[in-house]
Amino acid sequence: MSHWHCIQSCGACCHLDPSDRPDLDQYLSPEDLAHYLSLVGADGWCIHFDADQRRCGIYEDRPWFCRVQADTFNALYGITPADLDEFAIACCQTQIAEVYGEGSDEMERFEVAIEGTIADRIDGTVSGTIARVPKTLDNESNMK
Ligand code: SF4
Ligand code: SF4
Repeated sequence: MSHWHCIQSCGACCHLDPSDRPDLDQYLSPEDLAHYLSLVGADGWCIHFDADQRRCGIYEDRPWFCRVQADTFNALYGITPADLDEFAIACCQTQIAEVYGEGSDEMERFEVAIEGTIADRIDGTVSGTIARVPKTLDNESNMK
């Protein structure tokens, strides 16, 4: 079984352009949605994303909805801990494909990392922002 893991030098999930996530208001409260929108820069990337290092500039203080962890995903999407790996992996795959491409180095490194076969499995340097919920899982996500 694959296990979700963030990889270094990715940051695809920090591309926050709301036009890519039309369902934001279904799983964010009005206050959290306003917070989310306040983070979006003119180029669509989070204003706290360090594009040179490809990491979060406020990692320890990043918003709660940026955290890939069981309580966050349960609150946002109704995902149980048992389904967290599958759901988070699909979210990352969707986002990496959209930002860097299906055949990108980032996708290849992610696929290898979730299989746990190389030392690229690290504690996330972004880890990770709110999901772009993959279409294939929309019906299972029990969004609020
Ligand atoms: S959470 Fe996923 S999309 Fe975001 S930086 Fe990590 S691997 Fe990339
Ligand atoms: S983890 Fe959140 S706060 Fe940090 S750069 Fe990404 S979107 Fe911005």
